[in-house]
Amino acid sequence: MSYISSYYASSANAAPERLVLEGDHHCDICVIGAGYAGLSTALHLAEKGYKVIVLEAEKTGWGASGRNGGQIINGYSRDYDTIRARYGEDTARALLNMGFEGADIIRDHIKKYNINCNHSPEGSFFAAFNDSQMKFLERRKAIWAEGGNNETEIISRDKLSDYVGSALYCGGLLDKRGGHIHPLNLALGEAAALESLGGKIFEKSRVLSIDTGTKPKAITERGSVSAAHIVVCGNAYIGNTAPQLQSRFMSVSSQIITTAPLTDAQASALLPGRHCVEDCNFLLDYYRITADRRLLFGGGVVYSGTTPHDIEGRLSPKLLRVFPMLQGVKIDYAWSCNFALTLTRMPHIGRLSDTVYFIHGDSGHGVTTTHLLGRLTAEAVAGQAERYDIFANMKNYPFPGGRVFRIPFTALGAWYYGLREKMGI
Ligand SMILES: Cc1cc2nc3c(=O)[nH]c(=O)nc-3n(C[C@H](O)[C@H](O)[C@H](O)COP(=O)(O)OP(=O)(O)OC[C@H]3O[C@@H](n4cnc5c(N)ncnc54)[C@H](O)[C@@H]3O)c2cc1C
Repeated sequence: MSYISSYYASSANAAPERLVLEGDHHCDICVIGAGYAGLSTALHLAEKGYKVIVLEAEKTGWGASGRNGGQIINGYSRDYDTIRARYGEDTARALLNMGFEGADIIRDHIKKYNINCNHSPEGSFFAAFNDSQMKFLERRKAIWAEGGNNETEIISRDKLSDYVGSALYCGGLLDKRGGHIHPLNLALGEAAALESLGGKIFEKSRVLSIDTGTKPKAITERGSVSAAHIVVCGNAYIGNTAPQLQSRFMSVSSQIITTAPLTDAQASALLPGRHCVEDCNFLLDYYRITADRRLLFGGGVVYSGTTPHDIEGRLSPKLLRVFPMLQGVKIDYAWSCNFALTLTRMPHIGRLSDTVYFIHGDSGHGVTTTHLLGRLTAEAVAGQAERYDIFANMKNYPFPGGRVFRIPFTALGAWYYGLREKMGI
């Protein structure tokens, strides 16, 4: 299988054909999965001088890292107060202080390795529908300032049209340390950076099983890699390769559509400052203007993780609700992709054994966090596990309902939160 059809696949930078793993190989660290989590881990390790091999089941950036909304969003899927209530003040503070590092890593990689991924540094905009969401954003602004991000601004209703040309919202928060990128080209650029440091990537090389013993080994159909450490970064697409992770996440799909190129005037009427936008709902809409002036619009989830047959039909009404002036606009691309949802909606990292680490569970918000967690995992492998263990010690819970009932249970929970939002509570 090559890339799934998408706007990103059709506008990807040229990349080398990579080999399939054949025979038995040895290295310092073997990483499973060439998404952001795997590439960030591998690149940070290669920068420290380790010999790294990445094994990818499909193609580099084939998963969520090459098919997402491209939004560089700071922080986590859960807000500071939820994290503090759940894990305590010390953990919440430590996470807050690391909450802007993932975006900095992305910008560093783009600059250091000269990655052409249409990086748009204007910032990210969080749009509020009602007063209670505005209060939430005001609290976010105050908390983020305590964590070192003073580059945010509350935008009131009278200034809103400078940021979003939609009558739906009552205001928002601008984060100037956000931005957006062509996500597949970021992944391809990070892969090239890894290879420039001597790292190797094998594609079409699905790891079928992992020996998690003192001499760990990743085994594919045609070969194997033995290493001092293995890092599992297969996220929503890991399947049965790491059975220990199966009950800890649900593979959930989200969909994106992309319009035909708009005129400059049309694009400016929608998003005058070219910021990317996500709204504050539990099941949120997210959108931005691409480098060639298309509106790229995502929203909704399918809890069974399947691809809906009519993505355009599902998303167009949402798009038109935000921007009714786009009635009749041609949709050039529509695709679906899966992310790994945890019960806590926080990323989940840890060790399957003394030698095997894992990163997964971005919960739909992981462009920045996967980059951070890759760095922390590299630190831990190199013997500095202090920051890593703050995350690894956060309790993660299996989904209730077992394999049969966890999808309806989770959908029911989401319906409940969606209903609360519709009622404005
Ligand atoms: C539609 C959509 C839109 C999103 N939009 C945003 C956004 O705008 N901003 C944001 O912050 N987050 C967003 N996210 C989330 C973000 O994309 C993810 O958090 C992030 O890309 C996850 O990276 P990853 O490396 O963990 O997983 P992935 O990118 O999915 O990579 C996992 C890789 O592992 C490979 N793999 C799996 N199993 C094996 C195996 N056994 N052997 C070898 N290889 C294997 C897969 O083929 C895949 O390439 C979105 C997600 C989706 C689905």
